[in-house]
Amino acid sequence: MDSPDGRQRTARCGCGALSVATHGEPLDVYACACVRCRARSGSAFSYAGLFKETAISVAGPFQVWRRTADSGRTLENAFCPSCGSTVFFRTEAWPDIVGVAAGCFAEQDFPRPERLYWAARRHAWLCLPAGTPMIETQ
Ligand SMILES: [Zn+2]
Ligand SMILES: [Zn+2]
Repeated sequence: MDSPDGRQRTARCGCGALSVATHGEPLDVYACACVRCRARSGSAFSYAGLFKETAISVAGPFQVWRRTADSGRTLENAFCPSCGSTVFFRTEAWPDIVGVAAGCFAEQDFPRPERLYWAARRHAWLCLPAGTPMIETQ
């Protein structure tokens, strides 16, 4: 059954111990091919949806590690202590927003990225669907 605010989905880590339920559609969806996002995800780019803090609920254990973004602000990555998947993140830049790793959703209808950041640092083969803006930097 749909809640009044729409679609519900659940993002889960690799082992299933940590999950994030989201309510409604993401405010924004993007991909990023910067070196830090590639290293964090272990893939060619990160792919994430942004939600209001009030639109998500976290279940299960997690730990965080922090890094300083190019902007100078702190970015906090929350991962499952058992399997290491990064399931969500927060940034000092947007205090009431949580980013959820789109690859962690089993649902196949998660919206596509609206743009790719750091296109200048992407792997040479990487193309997004026609019409997706490729932002050279941040
Ligand atoms: Zn896990
Ligand atoms: Zn990035």
